[in-house]
Amino acid sequence: MQDLKEKGIKPEEIDYCLMTHLHYDHVLGLTGKRENGEYFSIFKNAEIIVSETEWLEMKQPNIRSKSTYWPENWQAIESQVKTFKNELDLLPGVKMIHTGGHSAGHAVIELTSGAERAVHMADIFPTHAHQNVLWVTAYDDYPLDSIFQKQALFEKWRDGSTWFLFYHDAKYHAVKLDQAGEITDSILV
Ligand SMILES: [Zn+2]
Repeated sequence: MQDLKEKGIKPEEIDYCLMTHLHYDHVLGLTGKRENGEYFSIFKNAEIIVSETEWLEMKQPNIRSKSTYWPENWQAIESQVKTFKNELDLLPGVKMIHTGGHSAGHAVIELTSGAERAVHMADIFPTHAHQNVLWVTAYDDYPLDSIFQKQALFEKWRDGSTWFLFYHDAKYHAVKLDQAGEITDSILV
């Protein structure tokens, strides 16, 4: 919210929220709590985009995932949610791709503009230290899927010119990587 404020953007001016998955640490910012304990949607004019698998699991989590999919994070935004199955070309240059792995409905985001590309692999590549495809988080529900997806996406995107954007990294906002895994450019936190 602070970052939006600094850019002079109001929450109601946001058109889309792209959700890689709905674990509580990624989704808490979609809702606020009033003094009477009621939850409300913060980006009330936005379409909230998420894979269908993720959305269905959030509403009916299993014995393992119920500790991370919280009703207070979805009930107030339910009417704004738009789902997709495998891939979604949301806008020119804005694409979401379902991967599974970290969660059954986990997705990654690809942004292109001219010859430039940035990708957000969210929690299947949570920090720059997770380049070894075998390194997955303890929260991954389907680790083998994370491993295979990361392998395939690295093949495509570790080209030395694609930006990898991070949410969980303490050191980098973004890095470019070559096929050998060397950092060729970076933006520090
Ligand atoms: Zn997660």
